[in-house]
Amino acid sequence: MRTLAIAGRRPRMRLGCEVCEESLAALGRRCADHVAAEAEARGERTASCVRFYPNGEFRREPRVPADLETWLEYNRTFRPGNSLFVEGRCAQRGAGFTDEDCSDIERALATGTPWTPRR
Ligand SMILES: [Zn+2]
Repeated sequence: MRTLAIAGRRPRMRLGCEVCEESLAALGRRCADHVAAEAEARGERTASCVRFYPNGEFRREPRVPADLETWLEYNRTFRPGNSLFVEGRCAQRGAGFTDEDCSDIERALATGTPWTPRR
């Protein structure tokens, strides 16, 4: 979200991350992805957070400890289909995932092997 000051118009307040411009109200100057990337660049530890989609795709989304609860709460509310793993353990089983799926994913994360949905 880039805001240009145009003569005669009042500039809109900018609420997105100043790096990726992801638009999230009241998030501050960086989105949680970039806060974590900067913490890692300083050598600070972040929580290992991984999002799995029902089709087996996944995305690593490390979080600084202060952002962890917000990540879980946001996803429980708005992304109920995804399963979330923190430090290799299932923190939220998404709709459509079975307990067996989550055990399989935990094993895959521990061994560094891919997970393929059985269905
Ligand atoms: Zn960002």
